[in-house]
Amino acid sequence: MSAYLQCINKNCQEKFPINNKIYHCPKCDGLLDVNYDFPKLEAQELKNRFRERRSSFIPIDQSGVWRFRELIPFLNDERNIVTLFEGNTPVYDAPKSASYAGLKKLLLKHQGLNPTGSFKDNGMATGIAQAKSLGAKAVACASTGNTSASMAAYAARAGMLAAVFIPSGQIAYGKLSQSLDYGAKTLQIDGDFDLAMQLVLELSQESELYLLNSINPFRLEGQKTIAIELLEQCAWQVPDRIVVPGGNLGNSSAIGKALAECYQLGLIDRMPKMHIIQAEGANPLAQMWSKGERDKLLMVEKASTLATAIKIGNPVSWQKALRALDWCKGGGCHQVSEQEIADAKAIIGSDGIGSEPASAVTLAGIRNLVSSGIIDKEERVVAILTGNLLKDPDYTVNYHLDSLYQKSQTKIEIISQQDKILANFANRPVQVAAEKNTIKQVLGL
Ligand SMILES: *Cc1c(COP(=O)(O)O)cnc(C)c1O
Repeated sequence: MSAYLQCINKNCQEKFPINNKIYHCPKCDGLLDVNYDFPKLEAQELKNRFRERRSSFIPIDQSGVWRFRELIPFLNDERNIVTLFEGNTPVYDAPKSASYAGLKKLLLKHQGLNPTGSFKDNGMATGIAQAKSLGAKAVACASTGNTSASMAAYAARAGMLAAVFIPSGQIAYGKLSQSLDYGAKTLQIDGDFDLAMQLVLELSQESELYLLNSINPFRLEGQKTIAIELLEQCAWQVPDRIVVPGGNLGNSSAIGKALAECYQLGLIDRMPKMHIIQAEGANPLAQMWSKGERDKLLMVEKASTLATAIKIGNPVSWQKALRALDWCKGGGCHQVSEQEIADAKAIIGSDGIGSEPASAVTLAGIRNLVSSGIIDKEERVVAILTGNLLKDPDYTVNYHLDSLYQKSQTKIEIISQQDKILANFANRPVQVAAEKNTIKQVLGL
């Protein structure tokens, strides 16, 4: 078997055939990887193939995930591929963001420009392909919004039932609208993400539902291509640092695995450092990192942040994320405040690049790392923007109207001024009479 499931626990490492519908190691309950006995592949030949496919008209070549299929070789039958032409996302030079962070130059890889507006599409492409290979008729996920939007779209394309479990009243409207429009059965659970996750995991073990959360290692195989494509866009010159937001910690895990495999296969000659950034109210890994705790998750009971995509207190992939930090030595996990996130988001916007609050933790984190001297201003740094601005327009509008509060206003509660997020970089709309001379004055014409 050239592709197999393997337990990540160092003292287990048991292997299982990939057609097993399991999400944990049946022996020790550890997380699973999809691993491969890679055939001998010539690095330059691979790079040429990846590049040539960019001018092909064949759907699997046009997909920014399946274009790299030699590095995710778990499918026996390519007819199980469903693609929305995910990936192929741009890397932007962002001068205002760079200067805000104190760097000479900063690159932003924008995964929010995927078909459903987040990096989840990279992973869903491979997750749905595996679901089809297994003959699944129904797929499920718990979601803070983007996973459900993505799964709903891919399930619709594949003709499968999608069951989405979302924490009631806690997801951004743009994301909810997608899951409804793509026809998913959308279950609003009275509880937070961590509870929804627990429920859907148990249901998938008891029924035919195939689970497509990032605990499913086939999803992480697709998310590897974010890093692979980034390396290609850097002409395979490894950046000094890659900075990613951390929620359930699947993405940082996948990026770490991709880098390790590219290194092992000789596609790159060194490993970059990786930094994972969390919101201070949803900071389990950042806490562990700063306290030197590596063996036991320091769960956050009631995760809280307006960056709902990373509002997770009990992240599934924390062990894989620590392993990734270990592979990408010299990085770490850090936290940023709600104020820092909001300001960083507005700065990214001023570069003409729209992102979700969760994506903006990267710039906020980089700024802190530069000012504390951990990152040098000359270093080549890439931040991964994970989601699109339009996912959560309420947040953005409230910031610019100077009415953004740390606590969400979905329930009637007294909001204190301490919870106010300052609109330090607000671009307020201007109320103006419908009169040309006044307008000219306002515009300075
Ligand atoms: C899912 C998501 C994250 C968090 O990614 P994890 O893999 O759960 O750490 C961050 N930002 C956005 C926009 C997301 O959709």
